[in-house]
Amino acid sequence: MLPFPVPLISKFPSIGTTIFTVMSKLAADCEAINLSQGFPDFQAEAELFEATARAMREGHNQYPPMAGVVELRRAIAAKVMALYGQPYDLDHEITVTAGATQAIFTAIAALVRHGDEVIVFEPVYDSYVPAIEAVGGKAVYARLVFPDYRPDWRAVRSLLGPRTRMIIINSPHNPSGALLTADDLATLAELIRGTDVVVLSDEVYEHIVFDGAAHQSVASHPELAARSLVVSSFGKTYHITGWKVGYVLAAADLMAEFRKVHQFNVFTVNTPCQLGLAAYMRDAGRYLGLARFYEDKRAFFAEQLRGSRFELLPCRGTYFQLARYDAIADLPDKEFACWLTREAGVAAIPVSAFYADSHDDRVIRFCFAKREATLAAAGERLRAL
Ligand code: PMP
Ligand code: GLN
Repeated sequence: MLPFPVPLISKFPSIGTTIFTVMSKLAADCEAINLSQGFPDFQAEAELFEATARAMREGHNQYPPMAGVVELRRAIAAKVMALYGQPYDLDHEITVTAGATQAIFTAIAALVRHGDEVIVFEPVYDSYVPAIEAVGGKAVYARLVFPDYRPDWRAVRSLLGPRTRMIIINSPHNPSGALLTADDLATLAELIRGTDVVVLSDEVYEHIVFDGAAHQSVASHPELAARSLVVSSFGKTYHITGWKVGYVLAAADLMAEFRKVHQFNVFTVNTPCQLGLAAYMRDAGRYLGLARFYEDKRAFFAEQLRGSRFELLPCRGTYFQLARYDAIADLPDKEFACWLTREAGVAAIPVSAFYADSHDDRVIRFCFAKREATLAAAGERLRAL
């Protein structure tokens, strides 16, 4: 270990290590079943790997265009047009990114000025606020109303002001699994009409929406689409979170600003994976079947927890299941999640990690993007509590 030679003054003294890393490490240290960090424990299809390997062998191993390979942008444009009816322009309105995290950071860096306010909804995905603060912006918190995690638009209206530059929405919502409705989007559009507020819409779980509900993309709302950056991630859709490939859609003016930062942030994203994804995406069934695939996993996991003392909250989308545990322990959620990992051998995420003030409704988040054998083994341990 090499010590820095003088006392190091941190630029970010209040930023610790992300809860996903903390809990996955604890799970590994305790050899617990890891239902904390969100990632599948099963393989993607061989066709995706073959298409990617083929691209490598055919010599597609140098820099692709800054915005992404045209084949992938074309496939994204076709999908978005088919599902949401918005014709994003290949050259000016679609950019492939190194996952959604980079897309979100880059969007914030490109658009939020020093002193600008950004409205976020708590519980808030943990990368948003550090990105806002890293560029000198200020996060302003609206709270989703427990236990349904619905937005309180009246509260949002009271938070809007001359310094508001951006509103970040996320549907399907991590960690709650709640969905925004078409009425929510209409209300949001009305609230920011006539302002210069930009919407950053994190839609990485767009294909994981249950019970016949339709994903309400801001791309399908022309008024919002004109002032929004829409973010998605192939990691969620194709079971490849480690590939770190995603994309952003935005009107040309906004996208031009986005690319000013993107080109010097990552410049571009690895070529063979983009080409593999472009080929794989041609079969729409592969993303259209995802809701059913995860609906079955949601049901299987709920079945495993039947007869346990956990109380499951509604899960309308994503691959996360929230659960109350007050019948089991009278502990703050972070302590409970650590205890559960160490003593019961199942790791979960404490939802207070998604609140700036560590607000604690005594709820934990399980990831059910796992093989049935994994969920069954976890269920056995959880039923015993
Ligand atoms: N937003 C949300 C809501 C997420 O759950 C995740 C990831 N798990 C991301 C963004 C980041 O996605 P990526 O892995 O593509 O960076
Ligand atoms: N988004 C994933 C989750 O919510 C984790 C991503 C990460 O580890 N950064 O669990």
